[in-house]
Amino acid sequence: MAAKQTPMMEQYLKIKAQYEDAFLFFRLGDFYELFFEDAKKAAKELEITLTSRGKGEESERIPMCGVPHHSAEQYISQLIKKGYKVAICEQTEDPQQAKGVVRREVVQVITPGTVMEGNIIEEKDNNYLLSITPFTEDKFGLAAVEMTTGEFLVTNISGGLEDLIHEVARFRPKEVVVSSSFPNEGQAMLKERLGAALSFEDELANDGLVNNLIEEIKDKELKNTCLQLIQYLFRTTKRSLDHIQRAFYYLPNDYMGIDVHSRRNLELIETLREKKKQGSLLWVLDETETAMGGRLLKQWIERPLISKTMIENRHQLVETLMERFFEREALKEQLNGVYDLERLSGKVAFGNVNARDMLQLKRSLQEVPRIFDTVKELGNEFALKLIEGVDDCHELKELLEKSIKEDPPLTITDGNVIKDGYHPELDNYRDAMRNGKTWIASLEQKERQETGIKSLKIGFNKVFGYYIEVTKANIPNLPEGRYERKQTLANAERYITEELKEKEALILEAEEKSGKLEYELFMEIREQVKAFIRPLQQLANVLSTIDVLQGFAEVAERNHYVKPVIKENGEVNIVDGRHPVVEQMIDSGDYVANDIQLNEGRGMLLITGPNMAGKSTYMRQLALISIMAQIGAFVPATEASLPIFDQIFTRIGAADDLAQGQSTFMVEMLETKNAVTRATKNSLILLDEIGRGTSTYDGMALAQSIMEYIHNEIGAKTLFSTHYHELTTLEEQLPLLKNVHVSAVEEDGKVVFLHKVIDGAADRSYGIYVAELADLPQQLISRAKTILHYFEQGTHREDHSSRNIDSAHQEIVQAREEVAPSITEMQLNLFGEELSPNKKELEKLTTKEKQVLDKLKSLNLLHITPIEAIQVLDELQRKIFKK
Ligand code: ADP
Ligand code: MG
Repeated sequence: MAAKQTPMMEQYLKIKAQYEDAFLFFRLGDFYELFFEDAKKAAKELEITLTSRGKGEESERIPMCGVPHHSAEQYISQLIKKGYKVAICEQTEDPQQAKGVVRREVVQVITPGTVMEGNIIEEKDNNYLLSITPFTEDKFGLAAVEMTTGEFLVTNISGGLEDLIHEVARFRPKEVVVSSSFPNEGQAMLKERLGAALSFEDELANDGLVNNLIEEIKDKELKNTCLQLIQYLFRTTKRSLDHIQRAFYYLPNDYMGIDVHSRRNLELIETLREKKKQGSLLWVLDETETAMGGRLLKQWIERPLISKTMIENRHQLVETLMERFFEREALKEQLNGVYDLERLSGKVAFGNVNARDMLQLKRSLQEVPRIFDTVKELGNEFALKLIEGVDDCHELKELLEKSIKEDPPLTITDGNVIKDGYHPELDNYRDAMRNGKTWIASLEQKERQETGIKSLKIGFNKVFGYYIEVTKANIPNLPEGRYERKQTLANAERYITEELKEKEALILEAEEKSGKLEYELFMEIREQVKAFIRPLQQLANVLSTIDVLQGFAEVAERNHYVKPVIKENGEVNIVDGRHPVVEQMIDSGDYVANDIQLNEGRGMLLITGPNMAGKSTYMRQLALISIMAQIGAFVPATEASLPIFDQIFTRIGAADDLAQGQSTFMVEMLETKNAVTRATKNSLILLDEIGRGTSTYDGMALAQSIMEYIHNEIGAKTLFSTHYHELTTLEEQLPLLKNVHVSAVEEDGKVVFLHKVIDGAADRSYGIYVAELADLPQQLISRAKTILHYFEQGTHREDHSSRNIDSAHQEIVQAREEVAPSITEMQLNLFGEELSPNKKELEKLTTKEKQVLDKLKSLNLLHITPIEAIQVLDELQRKIFKK
């Protein structure tokens, strides 16, 4: 870059220097061009051709690539999706008027968290941009804005980075704004654990500008968290943020706490492995009619309530909606006609709204009075409260009804947007245009008659304006000097007349003026809509709440859910509960319903049972039913009374976080730590096969101590499934712990899972039968059965009731030793050798020799090291040959 640059490249470099972290889309005529490193990287990411610019050697030329401005959006979307930012640099003066280099400015920086349109924005998904500022080592301020809807949330975090991550995860942000002094450890966590792009902002917005948004935030530090976020928005969007709502302050503890791991494990929003909606709780519950409702449902699932009244309000409305079938059907239809009011308001504020958006707004508002009427008919108290005092925006509706045409074009500069009768001046222009055109049509008639040329016609094109066209064959019939010749075509001549040009001038003037006026009127209407942004947002909120709840009623009816009863005594009593998702996945009627009871004297269940029996499903079932109840939905059971859980912790299945570079067992322990350090008496903990990731005794020891710890120190309601059968004896030591098991029966040597959970411990492991079901080689299976037999002989030798882990350990070691010789036996038998000498020969031997033989026989070759073998050999030699 040493060479002297052209003035334009100098301009480019100057602008680029301010947007180092973004791709600079530099407008050049009809293209956006990228240069230097931007060009090389973009060419690769977008698969477009890399060229170069400038004179001289290839090495001195500037790498460049470009995209046409009219199709730029798709390229921009691709980059944003990959987590990049794009700075849009436009020509801000008319190139024809410019002296020297055309003035250019960056008009917007599009980032993953601020993007407003394009295919990145999912209808039923939110896109939050977060800002975090550290107050002390373990206290943080967090602010979140949803650019497309204007939602603005603010909270305090007080439990260190780990707490911060759990709260941030609820937003699933693609971009997080921090200051450049934000601790590195935190930066790494945000990037690696949540996959969020980091952006830096070291300035704060002038609070005078946005005071109305954050006046409720009193804390100075927290205010700064908001100002950091707003400054970033100003810097990137460079425009009005009129649709950003007043900051809503909440505390993470205002909602049920579900940490990142549990959220993923429970597959609330998407499935664990495939990241799909299908198969998640959201998938089962989403019967929303509007995009806004879809988004709200997602938010509810992310934040179940802990207030009894709020939960019961929702339950009651769902109940009413279930009873009132006709009203519900009507509501569904009416909601179906409502477009995305939230995002439409956002577009209005952002200034990229078109006439079709206005029409959508109008149609939505036309449904509102009907929706309100239906809601009133329901007579439900909570529903009435919801709509009480809410502006139905009928003035806005009336404005749009009389101003915007029914089928407007997409672009607002093409005219034909504003209705007749809305504005007298516009009507005049239109009259002039219409009259002019009628006059031209009658002129055509008149000229045909007078010249007798039937094919004579009057046309229009942009270069010559209106003209009279006569075909070559008819020219002899045309009286000399009647028209003035203007253009000659291959088989026709085109003419004009004085009179025609005069009318043309009138028509064109009227067209131009009306186009301009229409644009002005549209902008004026847009400004008027802006004044309705707040009421529109409130309306959107009410409509989406109603939408989610009608969806709950729909799902409850279809799947036979029941209204849960919220009890304050901490008891869980679920009769015939089902797993909402698994139930949908298998044939109808095949799901085996199960009861769950937890109470004062029965706070923990230890669940045993064969693999594939349904232990994990049973545990998740309780978590999902509780979450459903606390978001206000009905639940899959015939009867359910539930406490309000403050938090839910789950460690389920072998979800390997290998992608994050942690071993599965480490993840298991991290998740367990998370549960045991945060849970309270009012929490629900699900631990599924904890300790499986390490060696047997290690794992068993951990499992037992974890259970003891929860039992004695926390007292949280806990379900603990295990394949360590030995743990079932804990029931005698821990008064609140009860054994339950998932039953299976053996039929004709095959296991049949009943999926039924009953009290008491399971009596054996059916692992081998599962292996058999999986069609492992028969030889392998029968060998496993033999080995199991030996093990069982070992474990049955002692009295079960007095067993503990130590004795269990002993037994297994013994059993393994017993079975081991037969493994050697099998190997040696391959060579046709006989291990036991025959009786007669035995009798001839000396005592010492017999001892040596016994020793040899008992030697377990699989369990000794070479050194040990040498020692044994030495010992045997000494026995016979030395003293
Ligand atoms: P475990 O944890 O005991 O190994 P899972 O809970 O993973 O077993 O269940 C294994 C499979 O059995 C599930 O995928 C599901 O298809 C089926 N299943 C589990 N519980 C039930 C049930 N109550 N009714 C019907 N099928 C069930
Ligand atoms: Mg399992």
